[in-house]
Amino acid sequence: MPHTPDHDRESRVIEAVHGQLLIGGQWRDASQNTTFEVEDPSTGATLTRVADAGPADGVAALDAAVATQASWAATPPRDRGEILRRAYELIVARTDDLALLMTLEMGKPLTESKAEIGYGAEFFRWFAEEAVRIAGRYSVAPNGATRLLTTKQPVGPCLMITPWNFPLAMGTRKIGPAVAAGCTMVVKPASLTPLCMLALADILTEAGLPEGVLNVVTTTSTGEVMEPLIRDPRLRKLTFTGSTGVGRRLVEQSAQGLLRLSMELGGNAPFLVFGDADIDAAVDGAMLAKMRNMGEACTAANRFIVHDSVAEEFTDKLGQRMSALVVGRGTEEGVDVGPMVQASERDKIVELVSDAVSAGGDVVVGGSTPDGDGYFYTPTVLANVPQTTRIFREEIFGPVAPVYRFSDDDQGIEMANDTEFGLVAYAYARDLSLALRVAERLETGMVGINQGVVSNPAAPFGGVKSSGFGREGGAEGIEEYLETKYVGLAL
Ligand code: NAP
Repeated sequence: MPHTPDHDRESRVIEAVHGQLLIGGQWRDASQNTTFEVEDPSTGATLTRVADAGPADGVAALDAAVATQASWAATPPRDRGEILRRAYELIVARTDDLALLMTLEMGKPLTESKAEIGYGAEFFRWFAEEAVRIAGRYSVAPNGATRLLTTKQPVGPCLMITPWNFPLAMGTRKIGPAVAAGCTMVVKPASLTPLCMLALADILTEAGLPEGVLNVVTTTSTGEVMEPLIRDPRLRKLTFTGSTGVGRRLVEQSAQGLLRLSMELGGNAPFLVFGDADIDAAVDGAMLAKMRNMGEACTAANRFIVHDSVAEEFTDKLGQRMSALVVGRGTEEGVDVGPMVQASERDKIVELVSDAVSAGGDVVVGGSTPDGDGYFYTPTVLANVPQTTRIFREEIFGPVAPVYRFSDDDQGIEMANDTEFGLVAYAYARDLSLALRVAERLETGMVGINQGVVSNPAAPFGGVKSSGFGREGGAEGIEEYLETKYVGLAL
């Protein structure tokens, strides 16, 4: 049974957030005193207002990051690691409040928010451990006359731009390695979901992060505030998670400064089910790959590509599971699927489904928008959708699972690769040699074999093709924030 919302607790977690900019260790209002509202997508009601930075505030944040870079780079790696470790512990201790905050501003159910907080916190634990493992090399030159020394140094001040779908984890995945490597930073969270990042900044301050290392700018004049920073010669790295269209524009802007870049962009993940797969396990995996974060994930399975021999069984079972999901406000107990983050996201899903249906696709379950407030969409399974439809090409970013069929394995792999994107692919097969051959041929940065989630702080997350470049997490994650310096020494 849905619970009555605890409005006092909701107000308390929102009021605990500084709705201001964090610049040089000071919480301050935007220089023009402007603010913007943060909305609850399950009701459309205003939750609170936060500072709406202008270009001068952005530059002030970069000034602070630049002024702090040298002292921060000289801070012992162990000290940098201990700050991350303390922040990890504070996040874990405050999971319930952070989860409520996340659900209020983003809409996902509390269980999903808690899962993200656990995942996001792990990046701090992982990079706390990596901070003290930054190593160089000493070797003898081939002619024997000189010695070759290499060392790793922080790249310098970074700009981090994050999306709304994982308001905390997309931040910790960047802030963790930057702190560990000794970089200072300006972070700009998505304007739909700024509250979790502001709460995270508070936690890092409490954990002992020196002032000026992390600066947070919230704004709705996004391009106007970001572009001067990207073009500022003092900035050394831009790391962006978001849509491919915006990513392309930012790559162009960063050409002048030849910035180090990490681009974590959109996806169109195929989920392949081969004829010998364990179908119940594949349906379990499909539910995770599709419904984690209500489908609003770059890793979300966007195309279920299923062998003819098992397609009917898979579609039926997936339909049963999807239709059993409970849709409602994310703060209510028992809710599996909250609202989409804003009206335009929900409307895009409506359009994609209607395009698929008018091209001959069948609605197996769902396919509607519930009445009432909020931007809800019913969990949906589609079958017999032609490959020529928009839904085959575009990121759905919602709870819709189109099932396509293939008759031989090569055809299935070709369908999987028939996209400009290349973030992640999933494959279910009992024959592991088939699964490995498939994994090698899939044009993606990541592959999940017989598993519906690949995200793991200890693994390198990232894509190829229009899904971008750069890796977050794993041993690779910290390298994105380090430069190699070579010193030649004549004996
Ligand atoms: P988005 O519209 O590209 O926005 C992402 C961030 O970029 C936001 O902070 C946004 O700020 C900012 N932004 C927008 N226009 C900008 C500009 N002209 N200059 C500088 N910054 C700008 O993407 P989204 O809708 O928030 O996120 C969903 C997308 O992210 C999906 O495509 C998803 O696949 C992708 N994603 C990728 C990964 C990955 O690791 N590959 C992970 C998660 C999400 P405002 O909020 O102020 O507009």
